This record gives sequence, structure tokens and C-alpha cells, in this order.
Amino acid sequence: MHLDKATTLTAEAWHNQADALQLEGRHFIDGDFTASRNGRVFEAVNPATGDVLGAVARGDGDDVDRAVASCRKAFRAGVWSRMAPRDRMNVLYRYAQLLEANADSFAVMDVLDVGKPIKDMLEADIPASVDCFQYFAETIDKIEGQVTSTAHDALHYILRQPLGVVGCIVPWNYPLMMAAWKIAPALAAGNTVVLKPAEQSPQSAGLMARLFVEAGGPPGVLNVVQGYGEEAGEALALHNDVDKIAFTGSVEVGKQMMIYSGRSNMKRVTTECGGKTPQIIMADYANLDRAVQYAVDGIFANQGEVCNAGSRLLVQSDIHDAFVERFEAHARAAYVPGDPLNPETTMGAMVNRDQQRRVLDYIEIGKREGATLRFGGGVPAGLEHGAYVQPTLFTGVDNDMRIAREEIFGPVGSVIPFKDVNDAVRIANDTIFGLAAGIWTDDLTAAHKMARDVEAGVIWVNCFDHGDMTQPWGGYKQSGFGRDKCFETMLHHTQTKSVWINLPD
Ligand code: NAD
Repeated sequence: MHLDKATTLTAEAWHNQADALQLEGRHFIDGDFTASRNGRVFEAVNPATGDVLGAVARGDGDDVDRAVASCRKAFRAGVWSRMAPRDRMNVLYRYAQLLEANADSFAVMDVLDVGKPIKDMLEADIPASVDCFQYFAETIDKIEGQVTSTAHDALHYILRQPLGVVGCIVPWNYPLMMAAWKIAPALAAGNTVVLKPAEQSPQSAGLMARLFVEAGGPPGVLNVVQGYGEEAGEALALHNDVDKIAFTGSVEVGKQMMIYSGRSNMKRVTTECGGKTPQIIMADYANLDRAVQYAVDGIFANQGEVCNAGSRLLVQSDIHDAFVERFEAHARAAYVPGDPLNPETTMGAMVNRDQQRRVLDYIEIGKREGATLRFGGGVPAGLEHGAYVQPTLFTGVDNDMRIAREEIFGPVGSVIPFKDVNDAVRIANDTIFGLAAGIWTDDLTAAHKMARDVEAGVIWVNCFDHGDMTQPWGGYKQSGFGRDKCFETMLHHTQTKSVWINLPD
């Protein structure tokens, strides 16, 4: 799927749409927008300008209780879980069409909330979200039970049933797409859902919920509770009537999810957490320019606010200087921070001032640790009014430095030289993370060995960030467990029931 709005609308036209947008920051429960019971709100701020966008409901345990009760009621009534598979599929197909038809609104909402370029919304986030609902709609009548081979005097079959109420807790870096990845498999499997968007990106979640009802989804099947993680998020994850938490976010909060589960009803938990992805570039790879282009996109796309950002650039020593030179030239041309509503812009603002500060602090840490700042490192001139950071590259990085060990979640790449395949694998695996890895080589044996030995859930060979909905998305080690996208994810939202029938002769 491809939307071409970015090439047809001007920056002025997008600004007009943004000016006309009325922020809807309330919860969506039982088919309607509703304020918090406590009446409290917080301000949403556009990180590219500092302008206040409006008020967002600051949900708490009361609002979560209402949303969960509505989901439980809808689940028990069977309005969704017992709907004929074809009918459920048709609702999700119509829903996918409505998401696409509302592409402009989604694009403007996420851009205003998090400062990402509108071009990325139209070319990546929205098509990927539409694909996601279409893919999971297609899986609905592919879920099968089983009849096992057993004794003559028994019939044993296994039913696959939905879990019940699923809480989806998502981050702000791809607000629409992360919500789609979580909601689509949960709904397709017949569950009801409470979505808790990140407090930084409330807007698209409300529109998603409203359009679901417009597509024919019964009220109460998809509810949204807005608010802070430690308030609404914690209440949802601790709720005794939630059967599963599907979480995407930081390692720290991912670990909390497991504690919440243990402290409450032992609900299922899946976690998609952070990364420190290595891009391993071998000297034998003939097309260095291609590797450079992907390496640049791998760390600077979406301002580096990407779970699988290729932040550790492992470059074989023989090509180190050529790689760095070409990387700098390409990055300077391809990533110039600017107005996210301008369709020409390739790099927007950080999500907020806190994130900008955090990234700038890591740059200072890198300098103090003795890495060489090759380019970037500060706030771009003329953009001081927003939460911007220049695309930045460090060379001379040792894998023990904090900038190589911790997730910066910003446009900061680190070049780490290596000698040979074994050295590359050793460095690649010397991390708590294991989300993804890129491998660049023309040596078939080296490629397969590294694909086998690098500890990561997603491996790309001679490409980076390629894939489609069939690709299991998730990590090894502390990048989490469970998978997004793919058929396996659908199964994570079901449980099996064994039915043993006595058949005496
Ligand atoms: P975060 O962990 O701070 O927040 C994620 C979500 O959890 C938000 O909705 C937040 O409100 C909620 N939350 C925060 N504290 C909570 C608490 N105590 N209890 C319950 N909920 C709580 O992460 P973030 O800053 O929003 O997102 C960035 C992180 O997400 C990065 O680490 C990034 O790598 C990760 N991420 C991972 C993937 C993946 O697929 N593996 C994809 C995107 C982002």
C-alpha cells in the first residue's frame, strides 16, 4: 500500500490542517468519549514549536475500572468473541479502509504530538498500520483447534479461545503503528481491548477507537484510557480483571509489567522493549554506498527514536575510514532537521524537552568517555524553539562505553571497529539487548554464521529494516519476549482448552 499525499500537499496545506484540528483528549469508553471521573487533565505540547495543543484526560484507577468493566461486559455478551469469523473479518477490513481514508488526520495528529516528519507518517506508519489490520483480519478464520489421536474410547479435541480482556500499553515513537500492532491481533482473536497510549501521544488513539465503532465494531470492544504510565498504566497492569498485558516500551517499565502481573492476577504479559542494534559491516561487501545509505537511515530515521535503531555501527577496520567519510557525507545531505509538517523534512524534533535533554546528556557522556565527536552533537541553529537535536556520529567508540551500552533513543550513532567475524559477533552480543541486527557481507558462510550466532530476534542480511507482516517482531534477552506482527502473535492472544469426551463401547 502506498499513500502519496506527502508529494501532493504543501507545507502550508498541512499547517492549515494542523491549525484546524481540535484536540480530543478524552477517554473512549463504551462507544463514547468521556472525561476523567476525577476531572483532571494535563497539557499536550507540540515538541517542534512548544505550543500547547490542548488538554488530555489524566486517567486513574476509576477510569481504568470503567474501561475494563465495559470490556468484560462486551466480552461476556459475546458481541465480538462470538461474532461469526467472516463478520469479524469484515469489520476489521472496513476498519482498515477507514484508517486509510483518515490518513491526513492521523498524520497531523501524530506529527503534532511527537514531532516526527509527516512524510514518514504517510509513507511508513499509516500504510504499515493499515496492512496490520488487513493481515490480522485475514487470520481470523485460520485459527484452528485440533483433534488428537487417542484411545478408541475417547474423543479429545483442543479448542483455541480468546483470553478475554487485553490491556495494550504502548510508547510514543510510532503512536498509530504501535497501537495497531497491539490492538489488531488482540481483536482478531476475539478479545476486547483497553488501549493506554503514551501520555506524549494521546490523539490518534481516540480517533482509532471512534473509527472502530464506525466500522461496525460493537461499543465496549475497544476502549481507550488516556493518562500517565504510573497512574492509568499501572492501574491497568495491576487490574485483576485484565487477562493479558501486551506492552511495548522501555526495559525498565517492561520489567515492571511482570511485577504487576505477579502482584495481581498472574495475567499473561508480553513485552517488546528497547535495543542497541549492531549493524555489522564487513570489508568484503562490494556495495559500500548501499551499506552506508542503510546505516544512515538505520540510525537517523524517526530521529533515532526507534527500538531497532542501528546505533552500534560495527565496521571492519580495513574500511573504517572510507565508511565514516561516506557516512558523514550521506548523513549531512539526507538528514536535515526541520519543520515536521513540511513534506520535504526528513528529520523532526525529539518527542519533548526531556528527551532532548537526555540525548544531549548522552552526547556529553560520550565526549567525557573519550569517544570522538565526528559531527553533530548539539541543537541545530535556528531550531532552538523546538526539542531538536542534530544528527550525531561518534567514532573511536569502545563497546564498554555507556553510549554503546545504553539505549539513547535519539539520532546518535557510534562507530566501533572490529577485526574479523568472531570479533564482530563477540561485540554484537556483548549487550543486555537482542532486538535486531544488520549484517553486510558478500561471504555466504560469514552471513549464515553471523545470522546463527548473533543473539537477536530479527536479523537482516544486506538490508536493514526490511520486512512485512509475516515477520515475527521481537527480541532476545532484555529486548523482551513475545512477538508482534506474524501469525504467532495471534496465538499469543488465545488459550487452549482440552475437551475429553468419554466414548465407551
Ligand atoms: P516507556 O516504557 O516509558 O513507556 C511506554 C508505555 O508504558 C507508555 O504508555 C507509558 O505511559 C507506560 N508506562 C510508563 N511507566 C509505567 C508504569 N509504571 N506502569 C504502567 N505503564 C507505564 O517507554 P517510551 O519512552 O514511551 O518508549 C520508548 C521505549 O519503547 C524505548 O525503550 C523503545 O526501544 C521501546 N520500543 C520498543 C519497540 C519494540 O518493538 N521492541 C517498539 C517501539 C518502542
